[in-house]
Amino acid sequence: MATKPSHNLVWNNKAECMPVEERRSLQLKRLQDLVARLSVQSPFYRNQFKKHGIKPEDIKTLDDLRRLPFTVKDDLRDNYPYDLFATPVKDVVRIHCSSGTTGKPVVSGYTANDIDMWTEMVARSLTSAGATYRDVVHNSYGYGLFTGGLGADMGARRIGAATVPMSGGVNNRQLMLMEDFGATVLTCTPSYALVLAETAAQMGIDIKNRIKLRVGVFGAEPWTEEMRVEIEEKLHLEAYDIFGMGEIMGPGVSIECAYHNGLHMQDDNFLPEIINPDTGEPVPPGEQGELVITTLTKEAMPLIRYRTRDITRLTDEPCPCGRTSVRHFKLAGRTDDMLIIKGVNVFPSQIEAVLLRHSELAPQYVLLVERNNNLDRLEIQVEATEEFYKLGEDNIRMFSEKLHYEMQQMLYISSKIIIVPPLTLQRSEGKAKRVIDKRKELL
Ligand code: ADP
Ligand code: ZN
Repeated sequence: MATKPSHNLVWNNKAECMPVEERRSLQLKRLQDLVARLSVQSPFYRNQFKKHGIKPEDIKTLDDLRRLPFTVKDDLRDNYPYDLFATPVKDVVRIHCSSGTTGKPVVSGYTANDIDMWTEMVARSLTSAGATYRDVVHNSYGYGLFTGGLGADMGARRIGAATVPMSGGVNNRQLMLMEDFGATVLTCTPSYALVLAETAAQMGIDIKNRIKLRVGVFGAEPWTEEMRVEIEEKLHLEAYDIFGMGEIMGPGVSIECAYHNGLHMQDDNFLPEIINPDTGEPVPPGEQGELVITTLTKEAMPLIRYRTRDITRLTDEPCPCGRTSVRHFKLAGRTDDMLIIKGVNVFPSQIEAVLLRHSELAPQYVLLVERNNNLDRLEIQVEATEEFYKLGEDNIRMFSEKLHYEMQQMLYISSKIIIVPPLTLQRSEGKAKRVIDKRKELL
């Protein structure tokens, strides 16, 4: 935990720092309203409630949330495009959707009030990261159907910052404009932040003296504490983790404060639970499991107990920043990201944590999983830094052996380590694709 926070700014004191009891009654009231509203307006949920024998008056305490059924990603796919909307399309002002690499995309609709609430959530988030109207926000999240670009943009506008709507790509131009416009806040995926740092190095730009960035708001994909250190050192800024997902809203569902001791869930609007992903039962307080979110105030596409597939744990320990919301810790991964290799559960984040401990390696890696003769094989390709690569084959071989041993200690399985030359693995503008599971292609 950072003992000396860099700031203590709060966008909406009344909402973010309200007494815990008041927060709980607000949540209950909103939950009751939601169930009542959906019983009338949403054919999907009306049907669900009927199936589970639930009436609005059954919701008497927040614990009654557990009586409600889960909503899963397939419900969104099966009701493509509009059947989960609880308002007619005439009241919808924006539609986003996932990239939909497999099958139909997942759609998300917003009323004007939903957009307003989302904007407020991002304004709170940017403020929590220390951004103000004085800042120049260089927004490299993609604009378009993906919620990152527009989401960050709306919040930056609300706090009155000067926003540069970059999107990803054309890396050297990004660096030029960042320098010329005096960008102080960078918003993008953590993997793209590293690409920008790398581009600056290639262009010979002295980031410390020529680029004024002081804050980074990074999310939309998993990243470890080791990755945070790497980014902060390379870009000379303070990195904040922001979480969100298209189905729930977009970026701004939760964000770190200057204490960096977990992400404050904006739980006046998004009620979190943690369940055991196998049984669906709640886990004991503080234990890790799947994050489930109920959207308390959304109008166009509210979701009840949505199973995010993201793995984390919650804490309601008070935070010195004064916000009274529940926090979740950095995501450990996704239930569907978890690789089962030789019967052992492996999260890519465990591998990243080991790789990034080594100054010999660049933070660029790919995990390749294959099955030959019924035997799983994990190959970890990782880039050497320029300096290390120059030391030659013998050094690289010795280092690979050491890394192989460390990886085995962490994962309990053996892997093949391949150290590749600098700048040879593919970079991404948005979410990085780091896992190639060839076994899935065989299915
Ligand atoms: P978004 O448009 O907000 O990125 P997507 O629906 O494309 O939403 O992706 C949401 C998923 O991205 C989350 O369920 C989670 O797995 C991942 N994600 C988003 N933010 C973070 C974060 N800060 N850390 C780890 N994973 C994240
Ligand atoms: Zn805090």
